[in-house]
Amino acid sequence: MGVNGYGTIGKRVADAVAAQPDMEVAGVAKTQPNFEAHTAVDLGYPMYAAIPERAPLFAEAGIETAGAVDELVADADVMVDCTPSGIGAENKTMYASYDTPATFQGGEDATVAETSFNARANYDDARGADTVRVVSCNTTGLSRLVAPLSEAYGVETVRATLVRRGGDPTQDSRGPINDILPDPISIPSHHGPDVQTIFPDLSIETMGLKVPATLMHVHALNVTLESDVTAAHVRQLLENQSRVYVIPEGFGLDGAGTLKDFALDAGRPRGDIWENCVWGESIAVEGRDLYLFEAIHQESDVIPENVDAIRAITDAADAAESIERTNRTLGVGL
Ligand code: NAD
Repeated sequence: MGVNGYGTIGKRVADAVAAQPDMEVAGVAKTQPNFEAHTAVDLGYPMYAAIPERAPLFAEAGIETAGAVDELVADADVMVDCTPSGIGAENKTMYASYDTPATFQGGEDATVAETSFNARANYDDARGADTVRVVSCNTTGLSRLVAPLSEAYGVETVRATLVRRGGDPTQDSRGPINDILPDPISIPSHHGPDVQTIFPDLSIETMGLKVPATLMHVHALNVTLESDVTAAHVRQLLENQSRVYVIPEGFGLDGAGTLKDFALDAGRPRGDIWENCVWGESIAVEGRDLYLFEAIHQESDVIPENVDAIRAITDAADAAESIERTNRTLGVGL
């Protein structure tokens, strides 16, 4: 497996793949020999120049390259494209020209791939495909809830308000730094249609805001179900989902800050939280209306899904096997 674009998502995907017993990192492609390039070399990942003319910069920085990105594409069984939004679509023809199946990230339009992907919801749609798009952090978080709720109760409609971090911790040019922005101002936001790339028949309306925070997103959800339920039953259902962590009362995990601290204390790599974090106390039911709050670690919730997408695209395992293996090797489950 090769990674093209070794940034926030790419470096996590590479490490997660390296942890799998049935996968190997053939190499990673980078545009510049920055600190991440040095770390990749220290970790033993063969380094490829994503932009061939820049290969001399790597040599000047003391980094040996194994070749240009197209050599990695030729060698790899699967390419995982983790480049910034829009670049993946540009790279698509390169992957196709070598007949190398490719997975893309949620920043790309859904049209980039044959199918959008969430392991819990539609793994089988990606089996044997040539191109797959792992949906965004927010869409992954929403899909992990919609799938079990639909199966257990039926979903009439989902209304979600997404309070989104202004940028990742390393994105010092993003913001706001002192504001609260409806984003996008127009309602509904684009997030609902993105969830519909996984659940085409789902009724969903979303609204988004951006806030001066870098740690996580928080979703406020109202789901009208098709059958009567109790909060206790929903809670049990969510506790049984391997990639949902229902935060127990009394843990003092009252926000994104404490959740991140908890992950660091637990020895999670980079303090990553692969699971949706649903506040147990927030799960409430009024008639058929379910309400809850959840936090989503934008930098890492898509990482287990990326691993599963590789197994799906190579048809190497069914959904249950892949999810179990990914969870076990990474240590998913707080
Ligand atoms: P990033 O900027 O952290 O990393 C992208 C990397 O690709 C950088 O190292 C950049 O130098 C490199 N790059 C740029 N042009 C390239 C090219 N032509 N060839 C190869 N590499 C190139 O971005 P990211 O946050 O990792 O996002 C990558 C994708 O994942 C996007 O589609 C994004 O929407 C999606 N995504 C991001 C997050 C998040 O919160 N960061 C969450 C889920 C999905």
